[in-house]
Amino acid sequence: MELARLTWPEARDAIRGARVALLPVGAIEQHGPHLPLGTDDYIASHIARGAARRDDLLLLPGIRVGVSREHRQFWGTLAVSPAALREQAVDLARSLASHTLRRIVFVNGHGSNCGPLEDAARDLREEGVFAFVFNWWHSIDPMLRELFPDPTAHAGSIETSLMLAIDPELVRTNRLDEAGSVDRWGTYVEGVLVGFDAADFTEPGNVGDPNLADAEKGKAVLSAACDSLGRFCTWLAGRTEDELTAHPHLP
Ligand SMILES: [Zn+2]
Repeated sequence: MELARLTWPEARDAIRGARVALLPVGAIEQHGPHLPLGTDDYIASHIARGAARRDDLLLLPGIRVGVSREHRQFWGTLAVSPAALREQAVDLARSLASHTLRRIVFVNGHGSNCGPLEDAARDLREEGVFAFVFNWWHSIDPMLRELFPDPTAHAGSIETSLMLAIDPELVRTNRLDEAGSVDRWGTYVEGVLVGFDAADFTEPGNVGDPNLADAEKGKAVLSAACDSLGRFCTWLAGRTEDELTAHPHLP
């Protein structure tokens, strides 16, 4: 169920019947010369939408812009501060909690959103609202390491595969040869991160090799991530509030 498509009487019934809400959280940031700025947003929304086909899950309108300061030198990148993302996530969860639904999953598509979303979840826990961060790439990490040579990449083979599966027209295959060959995020001196903006270490913007992308692998990854999110929601829906509050009981 998708909240934005409902009228308020329909939303009342949908919220009463839902057990968990899903909030996609993306980013609008450079993804090399071959992928669109909205890549993280497309991926997070696709996974959340796929999982939300169940009647007991409610899909919220996503937060499309995230914490992308590390890409700010590239044209078109939009960014909000970590505090702004944290506050928006808390406010949206509070709105829903005021209408009785107090379980929410942040379906996250971007690494730098993780910290602010975890902080939001901590804030909400103190108010009796149960929020959790689903980072799709963590949920299926063994699969990614098996299928791809660059699991820590940005706009490399994984994200390019996923975008080929979501909408191949969004992938500029004619610009893949402009992608760089950097295979590691960041520049280090004596173990100290000295280059922490993408512009410090990758001129075209990507890390990893998008030329190794494969649409079939992308489909398999999206399907596995949707299934994983569904299983997490089933787990969350099956816990009592006491179980979710009393930490020694977890999981
Ligand atoms: Zn990305």
